Amino acid sequence: MSDKPIYVTQPFLPPLEEFTAYLERIWENKTLTNGGPFHQQLEKALCEYLGVNHIALFNNGTIALITALQALKIKGEVITTPYSFVATAHSLLWNGIEPVFVDIDPNTLNLDPSKIEAAITSKTTAIMPVHCYGHPCNVEAIQEIADRHNLKVIYDAAHAFGVDCHCGSVLNHGDLSVLSFHATKVFNTFEGGAIVCPDAKTKRHIDQLKNFGFVDEVTVDVAGINGKMSEVNAAFGLVQLNHIDAALDGRKKVDTLYRSLLKDVVGIKCLEDTGKKVANYSYFPILVEQDYPLTRDELYQKLKDCNIYARRYFYPLISQFPTYKNLNSSNSKNLLNALDASEKVLCLPIYPDLENGEIKKIVNVINKDGKS
Ligand SMILES: *Cc1c(COP(=O)(O)O)cnc(C)c1O
Repeated sequence: MSDKPIYVTQPFLPPLEEFTAYLERIWENKTLTNGGPFHQQLEKALCEYLGVNHIALFNNGTIALITALQALKIKGEVITTPYSFVATAHSLLWNGIEPVFVDIDPNTLNLDPSKIEAAITSKTTAIMPVHCYGHPCNVEAIQEIADRHNLKVIYDAAHAFGVDCHCGSVLNHGDLSVLSFHATKVFNTFEGGAIVCPDAKTKRHIDQLKNFGFVDEVTVDVAGINGKMSEVNAAFGLVQLNHIDAALDGRKKVDTLYRSLLKDVVGIKCLEDTGKKVANYSYFPILVEQDYPLTRDELYQKLKDCNIYARRYFYPLISQFPTYKNLNSSNSKNLLNALDASEKVLCLPIYPDLENGEIKKIVNVINKDGKS
């Protein structure tokens, strides 16, 4: 077997010459950051592409999450999911907020709205759900609960670039949505992120927060942070945006082939492809069920022995890390579905250039009974 390693993802890189043309312009006009021309151009282009009204770019998604919480002055307790990347809950701790973990729906692996209300206390100020793997949360149910209890909703939409639910971009739901443009994401700027804001006033406030709190040259009215995206990153984003549709199409083909090849494999369950009009195929999670001949970890190892690097996203749960495990809401009895998913899930390699032959090789390893 040809054994070029296959990683869970490969960064999406547009043609280098296109990028160097942008770099030459940076060298000419000597604006390196602080909301320069490429930064402004990328904000505008992303609004158009994503179908949203206002975007504030950031240097990464985590600083954007932290700033979104600052912008809405969130305090006390925030209800969130344990089934996510650690940055979701970390952004709460960085704001002195207590994360309150609520279990997920076993089918969508998103926060289960029917379990949110029981977790609300007098200290609850917001809900921070995640559109896990780019599958939209039940945004209507979540908004209804938020309205009833006067809570803000901040979506960690790091996986949801370009995802539409039935009523347009999923990023228009909640008070704010936060994107990540990290190298491993569907759309990347090497490092980067953004906050999708509903109106110009909110964007202005967020732009001040990400620039140390400067309102004008001599006025600083809050303790802002440095969350600015540089011109190099913004330029890369612009180049990449020209190729994003082809990249998403490539991912879709991978998703389709996996689904058809895995359809009849006993004990392997693919997540259902529902709840959205436009998907981004950002991940390809499978659940390794009881009737599969190997455990999830055995399959993970077997793939690794064949130079195929699947990832256990999300294992362990955030609530199992030392920083979080002593919270009341981290009690595993409270999080049975999340725990179950974290013990069954395996994200298979998916990226635009993954070849059909490679996909078949991966499925063959999964399909071959027993231990390697
Ligand atoms: C990637 C990711 C983040 C963090 O984004 P960075 O840009 O890497 O800081 C936050 N939440 C989720 C769910 C992510 O997948």
